[in-house]
Amino acid sequence: MEAKLILETQKQYFLTRATRDVNALKNLLVKLRKEIISREEAIYEALYKDFKKSKFEAYLSEVGIIISEIDATLKHIDSWSKPKRVRASGLNFPSKDYIYSEPYGTVLIIAPWNYPFQLAVAPLIAAIAAGNTVVLKPSEHTSHTSQLLEDLLSTVFTPEHVKVVQGGVPETTLLLKERWDYIFFTGSVAVGKIVAKAAAPFLTPVTLELGGKNPCIIDATMHTQLVAKRLVWGKFVNAGQTCIAPDYLLVHNSIKTQLIHDLKSEITKAYGTNPQTSEDYPRIVNSAHLSRLIAMLKDSEVIFGGTYDASDSYLAPTLINEPSMDSEVMKGEIFGPILPILSYETENDIQSILSHYDKPLGFYVFSSDSSFYKKMIETYSFGGGTINDTMIHFGNSKLPFGGVGESGIGTYHGKLGFDTFSHKKGIVIKANWLDIPLRYAPYTNKLKNLKRLFKFFS
Ligand code: NAD
Repeated sequence: MEAKLILETQKQYFLTRATRDVNALKNLLVKLRKEIISREEAIYEALYKDFKKSKFEAYLSEVGIIISEIDATLKHIDSWSKPKRVRASGLNFPSKDYIYSEPYGTVLIIAPWNYPFQLAVAPLIAAIAAGNTVVLKPSEHTSHTSQLLEDLLSTVFTPEHVKVVQGGVPETTLLLKERWDYIFFTGSVAVGKIVAKAAAPFLTPVTLELGGKNPCIIDATMHTQLVAKRLVWGKFVNAGQTCIAPDYLLVHNSIKTQLIHDLKSEITKAYGTNPQTSEDYPRIVNSAHLSRLIAMLKDSEVIFGGTYDASDSYLAPTLINEPSMDSEVMKGEIFGPILPILSYETENDIQSILSHYDKPLGFYVFSSDSSFYKKMIETYSFGGGTINDTMIHFGNSKLPFGGVGESGIGTYHGKLGFDTFSHKKGIVIKANWLDIPLRYAPYTNKLKNLKRLFKFFS
């Protein structure tokens, strides 16, 4: 179906107000939950075909998160969607004041390939719960999951409510030519800018969930084995193809040798001596991304891993020692299983390395010294982060998830997702039993009383 026609159909449907019936929405969310559970094996199969993702990782990072998001939405949708009474301003006395949540209308969601199920369905749940219609454009690079999404969502929703449009750049370009009421994009910074430009002529609001080069600082107070175990999980889950994966390490000189030793042993513990044969280690999504990653190894000192097999889209978990700041691996987001290890001596060294990059999406500090990690949290600007672990802030739907600067605009998850997809109307309902004359002209000598009133209510 042509983009214009889909949009027009959804706009008409939105006008019927059917998408705003909370009980009907709850039924749809229950149906979505049931369909996901009944297709659990098919979801695993699609993710495996796309890039050999293990069932465990698929549940942890795709299916489980979505079930929790549906459950939280079902639990709270009644209260989220009701008008909220807020304290009225004394200046408006007598009145009752409210915040009304109103859906934007027709929403376009553009999803990436790296968590192709979760990053498509999580924003969709929030957009639907808030009362919008949705056109979802999943990634062309994970075709099995995209097809599964189309089949699954068309079973639950009518196309005038939710429609999946598959395709790559040409199809997305056509969709972006239309006037949406909201665009939610997850992907690269470069494409995020294309989306923002396409939205600008219509002043369409956007959420941009982008990437960045996420630092991980490890100070001298840490036991390296625990750090290594948590880092190996955070960096090599999904073969490093995670927007909030630690991109590079900044480790204090005094523990660097021990940390490298422990990282090597933890990688071997997790994936064996040949990770290519491990059932738990995914593949690089396609040959273009594999070539991009292999190119990063050329001007670097590989101290572990570094092997690859293009016929299997495989790249081993890889450690790089002290890359120069102008090497390929330090130029941009790695988005793969390569971990550069840099060292520092002073906080100035940290500052000098971080200053090479824009504000990252994720930020990690391992330290037993609360004054050190609090200083890091307060000194640097970034989307969100975790202390003494990596990535797990993503798992709490009470925390906002999103970037700042080049890592993105806006946040979602839980209630914040509902709020992202609803316009907040501020409403004052003025009572008529009293009409204070102060504000009406002629003002003559009323200024003194006005000032007193402001002071009284401030
Ligand atoms: P991408 O930007 O290449 O693609 C994302 C989506 O945009 C896809 O659906 C794709 O079809 C579409 N697209 C690609 N080129 C386009 C163009 N020229 N015009 C219009 N649409 C286009 O990103 P990706 O490779 O799928 O994902 C990797 C990137 O996404 C990384 O930078 C990663 O950090 C980021 N990411 C961010 C988050 C987050 O939550 N902030 C999550 C996952 C991934």
